[in-house]
Amino acid sequence: MADKVQSKVPTVIVIGAGFGGLNAVRFLCGQDFNVVLVDRHNYHLFQPLLYQVATGALEAQAVAAPVRQLLRRWRNVRFILGHVESVDCVARVIKIGDEAITYDYLVVAAGSVTNFFGIASVMNHAHDLKGLCGADDLRSHILRMVEMATQAPDADRHNKLLSFVVVGGGATGVEFAGALAELLHRILPKDFPDLALHRAQVSIIQAGEYLLPSFPRTLQEYARQHLETLGVTVRLNTRVRDYTGDQVVFQDGSGMYASTLIWAAGVQAESLARGLPGNKQRGGRVMVSADLSLPDYPEVFVIGDLAYGEQDGHPWPQTAPFAIQSGRHAACVIRARCAGRRVARFRFRDQGAMAVLSRFRAVASLRRPAWNIQGFPAWVSWLFLHLLYLVGFRNRILALFDWGFDYLGNNAAVRLIMDRTSHGITVVHRDAK
Ligand SMILES: Cc1cc2nc3c(=O)[nH]c(=O)nc-3n(C[C@H](O)[C@H](O)[C@H](O)COP(=O)(O)OP(=O)(O)OC[C@H]3O[C@@H](n4cnc5c(N)ncnc54)[C@H](O)[C@@H]3O)c2cc1C
Repeated sequence: MADKVQSKVPTVIVIGAGFGGLNAVRFLCGQDFNVVLVDRHNYHLFQPLLYQVATGALEAQAVAAPVRQLLRRWRNVRFILGHVESVDCVARVIKIGDEAITYDYLVVAAGSVTNFFGIASVMNHAHDLKGLCGADDLRSHILRMVEMATQAPDADRHNKLLSFVVVGGGATGVEFAGALAELLHRILPKDFPDLALHRAQVSIIQAGEYLLPSFPRTLQEYARQHLETLGVTVRLNTRVRDYTGDQVVFQDGSGMYASTLIWAAGVQAESLARGLPGNKQRGGRVMVSADLSLPDYPEVFVIGDLAYGEQDGHPWPQTAPFAIQSGRHAACVIRARCAGRRVARFRFRDQGAMAVLSRFRAVASLRRPAWNIQGFPAWVSWLFLHLLYLVGFRNRILALFDWGFDYLGNNAAVRLIMDRTSHGITVVHRDAK
């Protein structure tokens, strides 16, 4: 196989070109290693902005950057497009289809997938916010519901088509609910002057007592109030039991209509983690040592969303900053080991958290300095940081262009219905009967 690596310098395989994997690779670029990066997609995905793709604010191309383009300067790095099916830590081999590739060091950064908590009906009918195609499809679906509402025979059908339920009151759910409410209540009415879009219903369902559980109470309250001013119905202390495709059923037996259910209630480890040796924690995360390696396999590192460890009595978060820092640390340990040096144990530097509520409004809880900001200043910080962290110059330009169009003109940059299976308008007519 062309991708077999035959040389004396150590081979480091990195599985996953997300935040963790890409940062591990960057710290190994130009060093004395053969680095092999494997991902089932040929792009790095900036997941924190997926909700903007799903609500038409950004085009998909702005949040994904081709991996080969990002790494082409580095001669010691090769990319393989493929799905890693298994890892054999004893034989030090990964398998991609029928091919086996051996490693000296392995960094597993395969990330997480949506956790439907075993509710099969939700898994079958709900939308989630994990992949690029899924976000594109969700935008098309939302716009299709609005088109179908223009042809609804009565008010009841109209209201049902325009009922959207977001499950999960963490940052992803809150950001999505706010952006969707803005799209339906403030942006699309310009395109649909005859449609009663003010009657479109966006609800957010949260199992816990508060939205944004990891934020300070004042910011939680600000977020709830702001969502309500956007027309979002907030339901706290409510758990979803079932979803029939148009009816959400709650744990207490009550229910509500939802033509669209967006599931943002949690994540679990990518299935690759199941085959790794060692202890698994909640959500299938892999327990790692203080240097991020597997306890019995010091040459295997697990980072990002997949890794489980505790610091100051709390589990590590499943966030982009954690993935970035753990990726860099794993690479530093590999470099240090090869140079015969020791490296301090991994310690996550928590910089805080942010969530956007709508255009020009956000909440931010910063750690150093310890500031809680809300409203416009928080939104400006969010905008600046996201532009800074967005990978790839072209992506930043695309995002700036789309945001300029969105924010200055109260618009949504992308309003296309992309129907992958049939002619979009055919579906609209058939379903509207
Ligand atoms: C909608 C959404 C919004 C978010 N918002 C925020 C936010 O605002 N702030 C924040 O800090 N965090 C946010 N997060 C979380 C953040 O994106 C993750 O914590 C981060 O992406 C984890 O990085 P990672 O490298 O572990 O995994 P990922 O970034 O998920 O990368 C994993 C990579 O591995 C590849 N892969 C997986 N399995 C295989 C396999 N078997 N073979 C080959 N390749 C494989 C995948 O294709 C992917 O490219 C959000 C997540 C989502 C889904």
